[in-house]
Amino acid sequence: MSAHIIDGKQIAQRLRGEWKQRADRLNALGVSPGLAVVIVGDDPASQVYVRNKIKACREAGIRSEEHALPGDSGLAAVLALIDRLNADAGIHGILVQLPLPAQLAPAAVIERISPDKDVDGLHPRNLGSLLAGQPRFVPCTPAGIMELLKTTGLELRGLEAVVVGRSNIVGKPVALLLLQAGATVTLCHSQTRELAHHTRRADVLVCALGKAQAIGGEMIKAGAAVIDVGINRTAEGKLTGDVDYGAALARAGWITPVPGGVGPMTIAMLLGNTILSAERHAAALGIQLDS
Ligand code: NDP
Repeated sequence: MSAHIIDGKQIAQRLRGEWKQRADRLNALGVSPGLAVVIVGDDPASQVYVRNKIKACREAGIRSEEHALPGDSGLAAVLALIDRLNADAGIHGILVQLPLPAQLAPAAVIERISPDKDVDGLHPRNLGSLLAGQPRFVPCTPAGIMELLKTTGLELRGLEAVVVGRSNIVGKPVALLLLQAGATVTLCHSQTRELAHHTRRADVLVCALGKAQAIGGEMIKAGAAVIDVGINRTAEGKLTGDVDYGAALARAGWITPVPGGVGPMTIAMLLGNTILSAERHAAALGIQLDS
Protein backbone atom coordinates (compact mmCIF):
# COMPACT_ATOMS: atom_id res chain seq x y z
CA MET A 1 0.00 0.00 0.00
CA SER A 2 1.17 3.53 -0.68
CA ALA A 3 -0.32 6.38 1.31
CA HIS A 4 -2.27 9.12 -0.36
CA ILE A 5 -0.19 12.32 -0.23
CA ILE A 6 -2.13 15.28 1.14
CA ASP A 7 -1.07 18.18 -1.06
CA GLY A 8 -1.07 21.16 1.30
CA LYS A 9 0.14 23.49 -1.44
CA GLN A 10 -2.82 22.73 -3.65
CA ILE A 11 -5.36 22.87 -0.80
CA ALA A 12 -3.90 26.18 0.42
CA GLN A 13 -4.08 27.54 -3.14
CA ARG A 14 -7.79 26.69 -3.34
CA LEU A 15 -8.49 28.36 0.01
CA ARG A 16 -6.49 31.42 -0.97
CA GLY A 17 -8.67 31.74 -4.08
CA GLU A 18 -11.75 31.77 -1.81
CA TRP A 19 -10.20 34.33 0.53
CA LYS A 20 -9.32 36.52 -2.46
CA GLN A 21 -12.99 36.64 -3.50
CA ARG A 22 -13.98 37.66 0.04
CA ALA A 23 -11.20 40.26 0.16
CA ASP A 24 -12.29 41.67 -3.22
CA ARG A 25 -15.86 41.98 -1.94
CA LEU A 26 -14.66 43.81 1.18
CA ASN A 27 -12.44 46.12 -0.87
CA ALA A 28 -15.40 46.91 -3.15
CA LEU A 29 -17.44 47.85 -0.08
CA GLY A 30 -14.71 50.24 1.08
CA VAL A 31 -13.25 48.05 3.83
CA SER A 32 -9.71 47.18 2.85
CA PRO A 33 -8.56 44.19 4.95
CA GLY A 34 -5.29 45.11 6.69
CA LEU A 35 -2.67 42.99 8.46
CA ALA A 36 0.23 44.37 10.52
CA VAL A 37 3.21 42.08 10.99
CA VAL A 38 5.59 42.95 13.82
CA ILE A 39 9.12 41.56 13.72
CA VAL A 40 11.70 42.23 16.40
CA GLY A 41 15.35 41.58 15.52
CA ASP A 42 16.94 40.07 12.44
CA ASP A 43 16.50 36.31 12.77
CA PRO A 44 16.91 35.15 9.13
CA ALA A 45 14.21 32.44 9.32
CA SER A 46 11.72 34.93 10.79
CA GLN A 47 12.54 37.39 8.03
CA VAL A 48 11.75 34.75 5.40
CA TYR A 49 8.45 33.90 7.13
CA VAL A 50 7.48 37.58 7.30
CA ARG A 51 8.36 38.14 3.62
CA ASN A 52 6.22 35.14 2.65
CA LYS A 53 3.28 36.43 4.69
CA ILE A 54 3.52 39.91 3.12
CA LYS A 55 3.66 38.41 -0.38
CA ALA A 56 0.69 36.12 0.35
CA CYS A 57 -1.31 39.12 1.60
CA ARG A 58 -0.62 41.03 -1.59
CA GLU A 59 -1.81 38.11 -3.72
CA ALA A 60 -4.98 37.76 -1.63
CA GLY A 61 -6.00 41.43 -1.82
CA ILE A 62 -5.01 42.14 1.79
CA ARG A 63 -3.08 45.30 2.65
CA SER A 64 -0.10 44.49 4.84
CA GLU A 65 2.36 46.53 6.86
CA GLU A 66 5.68 45.30 8.20
CA HIS A 67 6.85 46.89 11.45
CA ALA A 68 10.47 45.98 12.15
CA LEU A 69 11.95 46.82 15.54
CA PRO A 70 15.62 46.43 16.54
CA GLY A 71 16.60 43.21 18.29
CA ASP A 72 17.47 45.03 21.53
CA SER A 73 14.02 46.66 21.82
CA GLY A 74 12.56 46.73 25.30
CA LEU A 75 9.06 45.61 26.23
CA ALA A 76 7.78 49.20 26.46
CA ALA A 77 8.66 49.91 22.81
CA VAL A 78 6.98 46.74 21.56
CA LEU A 79 3.85 47.36 23.65
CA ALA A 80 3.66 50.98 22.44
CA LEU A 81 3.68 49.75 18.84
CA ILE A 82 0.97 47.20 19.58
CA ASP A 83 -1.16 49.86 21.31
CA ARG A 84 -0.88 52.02 18.19
CA LEU A 85 -1.90 49.13 15.93
CA ASN A 86 -4.78 48.19 18.25
CA ALA A 87 -6.11 51.73 17.84
CA ASP A 88 -5.69 51.82 14.04
CA ALA A 89 -9.11 51.22 12.44
CA GLY A 90 -7.44 50.25 9.14
CA ILE A 91 -5.68 47.28 10.75
CA HIS A 92 -7.81 44.16 11.26
CA GLY A 93 -5.09 41.71 12.17
CA ILE A 94 -1.88 41.98 14.21
CA LEU A 95 0.72 39.27 14.11
CA VAL A 96 3.89 39.26 16.16
CA GLN A 97 6.47 37.01 14.55
CA LEU A 98 7.80 34.44 17.02
CA PRO A 99 10.28 33.68 18.48
CA LEU A 100 10.98 37.01 20.14
CA PRO A 101 14.44 38.00 21.45
CA ALA A 102 15.13 36.63 24.94
CA GLN A 103 14.47 39.92 26.79
CA LEU A 104 10.81 39.94 25.62
CA ALA A 105 8.35 37.57 27.30
CA PRO A 106 6.06 36.34 24.50
CA ALA A 107 3.04 36.14 26.85
CA ALA A 108 3.33 39.84 27.77
CA VAL A 109 3.45 40.82 24.11
CA ILE A 110 0.66 38.53 22.93
CA GLU A 111 -1.64 39.58 25.78
CA ARG A 112 -1.33 43.20 24.67
CA ILE A 113 -2.81 42.48 21.20
CA SER A 114 -6.51 43.26 21.07
CA PRO A 115 -8.29 39.86 21.08
CA ASP A 116 -10.39 41.25 18.20
CA LYS A 117 -7.25 41.62 16.05
CA ASP A 118 -5.42 38.50 17.27
CA VAL A 119 -5.43 36.68 13.93
CA ASP A 120 -2.85 34.19 15.21
CA GLY A 121 -5.42 33.10 17.80
CA LEU A 122 -2.84 32.99 20.61
CA HIS A 123 -4.30 35.57 23.02
CA PRO A 124 -5.45 33.82 26.21
CA ARG A 125 -8.99 35.06 25.58
CA ASN A 126 -9.06 33.43 22.15
CA LEU A 127 -7.47 30.25 23.47
CA GLY A 128 -10.12 30.28 26.21
CA SER A 129 -12.92 30.65 23.65
CA LEU A 130 -11.47 27.69 21.78
CA LEU A 131 -11.40 25.66 25.01
CA ALA A 132 -15.04 26.60 25.65
CA GLY A 133 -15.97 25.34 22.17
CA GLN A 134 -16.78 28.81 20.82
CA PRO A 135 -13.67 29.78 18.87
CA ARG A 136 -13.31 33.33 17.56
CA PHE A 137 -9.86 33.06 15.96
CA VAL A 138 -8.44 29.55 15.69
CA PRO A 139 -4.60 29.41 15.72
CA CYS A 140 -3.44 29.14 12.12
CA THR A 141 -1.46 25.87 12.07
CA PRO A 142 -4.12 23.85 13.96
CA ALA A 143 -6.86 25.36 11.75
CA GLY A 144 -4.83 24.37 8.69
CA ILE A 145 -4.39 20.82 10.01
CA MET A 146 -8.16 20.46 10.36
CA GLU A 147 -8.60 21.65 6.74
CA LEU A 148 -6.08 19.04 5.59
CA LEU A 149 -7.93 16.32 7.49
CA LYS A 150 -11.22 17.39 5.86
CA THR A 151 -9.80 16.51 2.47
CA THR A 152 -9.31 12.87 3.54
CA GLY A 153 -13.07 12.48 3.85
CA LEU A 154 -12.54 10.75 7.20
CA GLU A 155 -15.39 11.02 9.69
CA LEU A 156 -13.41 12.08 12.77
CA ARG A 157 -16.21 11.29 15.21
CA GLY A 158 -15.19 8.27 17.29
CA LEU A 159 -11.69 7.95 15.80
CA GLU A 160 -8.56 7.65 17.94
CA ALA A 161 -6.49 10.81 17.48
CA VAL A 162 -3.00 11.12 18.93
CA VAL A 163 -1.16 14.45 19.00
CA VAL A 164 2.55 14.43 19.78
CA GLY A 165 3.63 17.83 21.16
CA ARG A 166 1.74 20.06 23.59
CA SER A 167 2.74 23.62 22.63
CA ASN A 168 0.20 26.45 22.83
CA ILE A 169 0.75 27.14 19.13
CA VAL A 170 0.19 23.65 17.72
CA GLY A 171 -0.31 20.67 20.03
CA LYS A 172 -2.85 21.89 22.57
CA PRO A 173 -5.15 23.74 20.16
CA VAL A 174 -5.15 20.96 17.58
CA ALA A 175 -6.01 18.47 20.35
CA LEU A 176 -8.99 20.68 21.29
CA LEU A 177 -10.16 20.91 17.69
CA LEU A 178 -9.96 17.14 17.26
CA LEU A 179 -11.87 16.71 20.52
CA GLN A 180 -14.57 19.09 19.28
CA ALA A 181 -14.76 17.07 16.07
CA GLY A 182 -15.64 14.03 18.17
CA ALA A 183 -12.33 12.17 18.15
CA THR A 184 -10.97 10.48 21.27
CA VAL A 185 -7.78 12.42 21.83
CA THR A 186 -4.47 11.51 23.45
CA LEU A 187 -1.96 14.31 23.88
CA CYS A 188 1.65 13.13 24.17
CA HIS A 189 4.78 15.08 25.10
CA SER A 190 8.39 14.61 26.13
CA GLN A 191 7.43 12.96 29.42
CA THR A 192 5.13 10.40 27.77
CA ARG A 193 6.19 6.84 28.51
CA GLU A 194 6.23 4.46 25.54
CA LEU A 195 5.25 6.96 22.88
CA ALA A 196 4.91 4.21 20.27
CA HIS A 197 2.27 2.48 22.40
CA HIS A 198 0.05 5.55 21.88
CA THR A 199 0.94 6.44 18.29
CA ARG A 200 0.30 2.89 17.07
CA ARG A 201 -3.35 3.18 18.14
CA ALA A 202 -3.89 6.41 16.22
CA ASP A 203 -6.31 6.61 13.30
CA VAL A 204 -5.22 10.25 13.09
CA LEU A 205 -1.65 11.04 14.12
CA VAL A 206 -0.49 14.66 14.38
CA CYS A 207 3.26 14.98 14.90
CA ALA A 208 4.48 18.34 16.24
CA LEU A 209 7.60 17.59 18.24
CA GLY A 210 10.25 19.37 16.21
CA LYS A 211 12.50 16.26 16.12
CA ALA A 212 13.62 15.09 12.70
CA GLN A 213 12.23 11.67 11.70
CA ALA A 214 11.34 10.84 15.33
CA ILE A 215 8.19 8.99 14.25
CA GLY A 216 9.22 5.79 12.46
CA GLY A 217 7.06 3.51 10.35
CA GLU A 218 6.65 0.99 13.19
CA MET A 219 4.97 3.75 15.26
CA ILE A 220 2.20 4.27 12.70
CA LYS A 221 -1.05 2.30 12.49
CA ALA A 222 -1.65 0.85 9.02
CA GLY A 223 -4.01 3.13 7.09
CA ALA A 224 -3.73 6.09 9.53
CA ALA A 225 -3.91 9.74 8.50
CA VAL A 226 -0.53 11.21 9.47
CA ILE A 227 -0.05 14.96 9.68
CA ASP A 228 3.61 15.96 9.93
CA VAL A 229 3.91 19.47 11.38
CA GLY A 230 7.64 19.41 12.08
CA ILE A 231 10.07 21.61 10.21
CA ASN A 232 13.64 20.47 10.81
CA ARG A 233 16.83 21.03 8.88
CA THR A 234 19.14 18.15 8.06
CA ALA A 235 22.93 18.48 8.23
CA GLU A 236 22.82 19.05 4.44
CA GLY A 237 20.41 21.96 4.94
CA LYS A 238 17.34 20.14 3.58
CA LEU A 239 13.93 20.51 5.26
CA THR A 240 12.52 17.41 6.87
CA GLY A 241 9.55 16.62 9.07
CA ASP A 242 9.08 14.75 12.35
CA VAL A 243 7.99 11.60 10.51
CA ASP A 244 10.06 9.12 8.54
CA TYR A 245 8.31 10.01 5.29
CA GLY A 246 9.37 6.96 3.27
CA ALA A 247 8.22 4.56 5.97
CA ALA A 248 4.96 6.47 6.42
CA LEU A 249 4.30 6.32 2.68
CA ALA A 250 4.47 2.54 2.85
CA ARG A 251 2.27 2.22 5.93
CA ALA A 252 -0.13 5.14 6.39
CA GLY A 253 -3.38 5.84 4.55
CA TRP A 254 -2.59 9.55 4.18
CA ILE A 255 0.58 11.56 4.81
CA THR A 256 1.54 15.22 4.49
CA PRO A 257 4.92 15.98 2.89
CA VAL A 258 7.50 18.39 4.33
CA PRO A 259 7.73 20.87 2.74
CA GLY A 260 4.36 21.29 1.01
CA GLY A 261 2.02 19.92 3.69
CA VAL A 262 1.13 21.89 6.80
CA GLY A 263 3.40 24.88 6.08
CA PRO A 264 1.38 26.42 3.21
CA MET A 265 -1.82 25.95 5.24
CA THR A 266 -0.51 28.07 8.12
CA ILE A 267 -0.18 31.13 5.88
CA ALA A 268 -3.52 30.44 4.18
CA MET A 269 -5.34 30.33 7.53
CA LEU A 270 -3.67 33.57 8.60
CA LEU A 271 -5.13 35.25 5.52
CA GLY A 272 -8.51 33.67 6.31
CA ASN A 273 -8.47 34.98 9.89
CA THR A 274 -7.54 38.47 8.68
CA ILE A 275 -10.46 38.51 6.26
CA LEU A 276 -12.78 37.18 8.94
CA SER A 277 -11.67 40.01 11.21
CA ALA A 278 -12.23 42.61 8.48
CA GLU A 279 -15.70 41.14 7.83
CA ARG A 280 -16.54 41.45 11.53
CA HIS A 281 -15.31 45.04 11.43
CA ALA A 282 -17.49 45.75 8.37
CA ALA A 283 -20.51 44.15 10.06
CA ALA A 284 -19.92 46.32 13.16
CA LEU A 285 -20.04 49.36 10.86
CA GLY A 286 -23.42 48.16 9.57
CA ILE A 287 -22.08 47.21 6.13
CA GLN A 288 -24.11 44.40 4.51
CA LEU A 289 -21.75 41.75 3.19
CA ASP A 290 -24.17 39.37 1.53
CA SER A 291 -25.86 41.83 -0.81
P1 NDP B 1 7.68 23.28 20.76
O1 NDP B 1 9.14 23.08 20.85
O2 NDP B 1 7.05 24.46 21.40
O3 NDP B 1 6.95 21.98 21.32
C1 NDP B 1 7.40 20.71 21.03
C2 NDP B 1 6.57 19.70 21.78
O4 NDP B 1 7.02 18.41 21.46
C3 NDP B 1 6.65 19.87 23.30
O5 NDP B 1 5.36 19.75 23.87
C4 NDP B 1 7.55 18.70 23.73
O6 NDP B 1 7.21 18.17 24.99
C5 NDP B 1 7.23 17.68 22.65
N1 NDP B 1 8.35 16.75 22.45
C6 NDP B 1 9.64 17.05 22.23
N2 NDP B 1 10.37 15.93 22.12
C7 NDP B 1 9.52 14.90 22.26
C8 NDP B 1 9.67 13.50 22.24
N3 NDP B 1 10.85 12.93 22.03
N4 NDP B 1 8.58 12.73 22.43
C9 NDP B 1 7.37 13.30 22.65
N5 NDP B 1 7.16 14.64 22.66
C10 NDP B 1 8.23 15.42 22.48
O7 NDP B 1 7.35 23.24 19.20
P2 NDP B 1 6.11 23.79 18.34
O8 NDP B 1 4.86 23.16 18.76
O9 NDP B 1 6.19 25.26 18.21
O10 NDP B 1 6.54 23.21 16.92
C11 NDP B 1 6.70 21.81 16.72
C12 NDP B 1 7.30 21.59 15.32
O11 NDP B 1 6.37 22.09 14.35
C13 NDP B 1 8.60 22.35 15.07
O12 NDP B 1 9.40 21.58 14.20
C14 NDP B 1 8.17 23.62 14.37
O13 NDP B 1 9.15 24.14 13.53
C15 NDP B 1 7.00 23.09 13.56
N6 NDP B 1 6.01 24.08 13.22
C16 NDP B 1 5.57 24.10 11.94
C17 NDP B 1 4.61 24.99 11.55
C18 NDP B 1 4.14 24.95 10.15
O14 NDP B 1 3.51 25.90 9.72
N7 NDP B 1 4.39 23.88 9.43
C19 NDP B 1 4.05 25.99 12.47
C20 NDP B 1 4.50 25.83 13.85
C21 NDP B 1 5.46 24.92 14.18
P3 NDP B 1 7.34 19.01 26.38
O15 NDP B 1 6.18 19.96 26.38
O16 NDP B 1 7.24 17.98 27.42
O17 NDP B 1 8.66 19.72 26.30
